[in-house]
Amino acid sequence: MKAIVQSGPESIDVVEQERPSIAADEVLIQVHSTGVCGSDAHAFHYEGGYEWVQLPRIMGHEYSGEIVEVGDDVDSLSLGDRVVEEPTQTCGTCFQCKSGQSNVCQNFSVKGMHRNGSYAEYTVGNPEKIHLVPDAVPLEHAAIAEPLSVAARTVLSQSNLKPGQTALVEGPGPIGTLVASIADSIGAKVLVSGLGQDEKYRLPLVEDLGIETVNLSESDLSEVTESFTDGIGFDVVFDSTGHRSGIELGVEQVRKGGEVIVVGLPGDASEIALSPVVRSEVSINTSYGSSWENFEQALNLLEEGVVDAEDIIDTSFEVTNPEEAFSAFFRSETSKPVFSFTELSDT
Ligand SMILES: [Zn+2]
Ligand SMILES: [Zn+2]
Repeated sequence: MKAIVQSGPESIDVVEQERPSIAADEVLIQVHSTGVCGSDAHAFHYEGGYEWVQLPRIMGHEYSGEIVEVGDDVDSLSLGDRVVEEPTQTCGTCFQCKSGQSNVCQNFSVKGMHRNGSYAEYTVGNPEKIHLVPDAVPLEHAAIAEPLSVAARTVLSQSNLKPGQTALVEGPGPIGTLVASIADSIGAKVLVSGLGQDEKYRLPLVEDLGIETVNLSESDLSEVTESFTDGIGFDVVFDSTGHRSGIELGVEQVRKGGEVIVVGLPGDASEIALSPVVRSEVSINTSYGSSWENFEQALNLLEEGVVDAEDIIDTSFEVTNPEEAFSAFFRSETSKPVFSFTELSDT
């Protein structure tokens, strides 16, 4: 089979490999479509806190596919099942796993980071982490189930956003766009903020989804907040910038008594003046990864057509030239590249 293997910083090759064999408690999945996550692009450069990823390894963790082999001990899945898989392997025995918080398992490992991933024609799946894709959802769209589950956790589990409330989403990357889509779908009044680099691709994509945007290199956010929220400030701010300035700005734009949900990894967040945050009783919460329930929510959102996967996924990149997708991602010239593995023939 063909696979995209990273062997060093900025060093990846499309290689021919043996098809993986499965254990009795595993399944083999023929990959249909597999998405590029911001974390894949960071891991490709091997910087920004991603220096721990395993080398060499097959990259990728966002994917959809079809089951082509079922281990002898697996009863829950069948040949031909259309599936997605949660990328995080959890231990099941730590305090968090036993308490229903397996997204913050103490002993987790991530597909395509700690171990071989989904940028391949075939991948080994763990039945306990596999979800069936509803018939109405094309596998190409199901490839975004994982980032959508992260966005579902952010909006539906970690925030208290309600219909009729106002929400600011900072950062129009893939997670920000999906967070905005879900917030919009529940009837909130949503504004997405971006920078100059986002004006070519990412902000127009959000506008195409029917969601308002503001370009911070042209407009003063405080003035926009004033008119968008009738001078009150946002009920909820979602920070998906992955930068500490997002939290600082979010705390300024949220209303007194509102909440800021941090979903990006802000790197070295230095001092945020906390006294005004306390005096305004602003809640700061975080969201990390997703749960089984969030994956099911994501698949339901796709099935109901609430999230416009067709518009959000970008299929213009070739699986044989993944570097192009990574560098376009860093230039903000795409949001969610999805590779198709169906056109590569097994040899
Ligand atoms: Zn991802
Ligand atoms: Zn655990």
